[in-house]
Amino acid sequence: MSRYVLIASILIVLGCHKQAGFVYQVPQELEPIVQKFITEAQMRGHTITISNLIIQYDYSPSFQYCAVSNIISSRNDAQKIITINGHPCWLNSAQLETLIFHELAHCILGRDHDMSLMPKGYPKSIMYTGDLTMYSPCVYALSDSCNKAYRRTYYIDELFNPSIPVPAWGM
Ligand SMILES: [Zn+2]
Repeated sequence: MSRYVLIASILIVLGCHKQAGFVYQVPQELEPIVQKFITEAQMRGHTITISNLIIQYDYSPSFQYCAVSNIISSRNDAQKIITINGHPCWLNSAQLETLIFHELAHCILGRDHDMSLMPKGYPKSIMYTGDLTMYSPCVYALSDSCNKAYRRTYYIDELFNPSIPVPAWGM
């Protein structure tokens, strides 16, 4: 056996071993959101398979984030882990979706943060940090002016295609 064949064999064995160690473990209540992410990608021409994802809660007081992802990478050769604050920082299902989609964009799409703003001052991307309300309906329904649900299509489009133009409502 030549040295190259030997090295190749070792790499293949290591590769397989690593692959076998991947886990898919998503809490039941969050599974529909992960499936929605895959469906939204599909609707925009991207086929995404997720088999190496753990979503877990952290209840400890020292956990200061709303959620974190262990990796920013679209590569499939690592275990992806999203940790969510056990003390919920979202106020409705749209905000929870925003949070999970943002984290999935980090660890499945490999997207980093994007703090740019539209001319009107709204976040240009779901990759903006610290705002779960970008396409949220009103939390306390006093009037309809707080309802931003109509903005969802843009933010999901942008999630899978960061180069799309700013929509009219952001100009
Ligand atoms: Zn982030």
